[in-house]
Amino acid sequence: MSRVPVIAGNWKMNTLRADAIALTRAIRGRCDGPTGVETIVCPPCIWLTDVAQELEGSSVRLGAQNAYWADAGAFTGEVSITQVAEVAEYVIIGHSERRQYFGETDESANARVKAALVHHVKPILCVGETLAQRGARETEQVLVKQTCGGLDGVEISAELIIAYEPVWAIGSGLAADRATAQTAIAVIRRTVREIAGAVAEDVRILYGGSVTPSNIAEYMSQPDIDGGLIGGASLKAESFAALVDAAAAPITSG
Ligand code: PEP
Repeated sequence: MSRVPVIAGNWKMNTLRADAIALTRAIRGRCDGPTGVETIVCPPCIWLTDVAQELEGSSVRLGAQNAYWADAGAFTGEVSITQVAEVAEYVIIGHSERRQYFGETDESANARVKAALVHHVKPILCVGETLAQRGARETEQVLVKQTCGGLDGVEISAELIIAYEPVWAIGSGLAADRATAQTAIAVIRRTVREIAGAVAEDVRILYGGSVTPSNIAEYMSQPDIDGGLIGGASLKAESFAALVDAAAAPITSG
């Protein structure tokens, strides 16, 4: 089956308000229209409303970088999935920086995925091994555990996006080579197939970790890789647009 490619930009904790608006305008200027690629920007939560206004009527979609699973209540500093649902279509869940710095786990990722789906926000679930886990040959085990843990009890559909992001490749300039990324993503797809059956062929699985306009084509040429979750290279409209263009280009296998 053919899966529509996805290029999603994770702006992390970057941009002041004026930067976020300017970047959105520039991305809209370059990426709006029938590109054949699902193009998503995920600004800091405080700018979601501004970016949503800038994207009104555009084909560029909006995502949050995180959301808490409770609908409302005494959770100082958190943003609920119901609040996100008012403005955004997607939410990144379980990013390794959330796991590493904010104590998030497979269990909390699972609660977020379930809450997102209840409120019709499409989850982008992140999984990936650390360098130590890769060194100890635990990659497959980690990917299976994080995928099964994040998706436990979830009714899986084509709404779900998964991002394979090896922790050692994020922001390091040390992108995984295409064979490494393909092997890992095939493990994730096989795991989804074991949990949910044939719908696994409809789930988009992205690679993330030091993706740039120069290496994106390598990933897009792989049978199981459906796009990229992009950090650094999503902060400049030109490089982000180049990634979208490359993801839309006809793929030659290799
Ligand atoms: C990310 O933040 O998810 C990411 C992949 O970052 P970078 O592209 O900068 O490695």
